[in-house]
Amino acid sequence: MSPDARPAVVLLSGGLDSATALAVARGEGYRCHALTISYGQRHAAELEAARRVAAALGAAEHRVVSLDLRAFGGSALTADVPVPRDRPAEVMAQGIPVTYVPARNTVFLALALGYAEVVGSFDIFIGVNAIDYSGYPDCRPEFIAAFEGLANLATKAGVEGQGRFRVHAPLVQLAKADIIRLGHSLGVDYGLTHSCYDPAPDGAACGRCDSCLLRRAGFEAAGLPDPTRYAGPARRPEGGG
Ligand SMILES: [Zn+2]
Repeated sequence: MSPDARPAVVLLSGGLDSATALAVARGEGYRCHALTISYGQRHAAELEAARRVAAALGAAEHRVVSLDLRAFGGSALTADVPVPRDRPAEVMAQGIPVTYVPARNTVFLALALGYAEVVGSFDIFIGVNAIDYSGYPDCRPEFIAAFEGLANLATKAGVEGQGRFRVHAPLVQLAKADIIRLGHSLGVDYGLTHSCYDPAPDGAACGRCDSCLLRRAGFEAAGLPDPTRYAGPARRPEGGG
């Protein structure tokens, strides 16, 4: 990576989607400044995964910012609320799940915008996806477009016309299997990533939360081996088991 490559800020959670977004940004020739938010998520294994992914994919820099959203709670990821398990896809498709973290992507993009302005970047990458998952309102293309408008109004760099901020959401219209195929083609080692909402203390994935189920189905549909380390015996309820 050339040191005078254009800089991009990439939101990196440590999950499958954001790892792919980082690989896309790198593949487009950006010098990547990865940003991870430690927001009090119950799955701290994500943070370790983010460090591994940033290193493996050659991020020029990786910042971890602590912003504890447990101060507000309101989500199964930031409060003492059970993470749903074993939900069929058609149930997942209905409504906004309790794993929604209030305004999370707005908060994250605001932090990424500040970081971008400091490093002289006008390009922010976020691995949101509106197809396979959930009604998360802050994963939709119209949200991304609205934030992009805000970014250009809200910053010194935007107002002074030094450039125009773009929020890149390269996965927004891809199914999970397509994301996995794309990342695979770009050399992402998904064994480094962590998707589970409710992992075992040693970081093993539960295999039963929405995120685990979508991830596993994505590998199956992509026809690629699932490198995820799951806790305990096989645990998907198959054949009524
Ligand atoms: Zn899980």
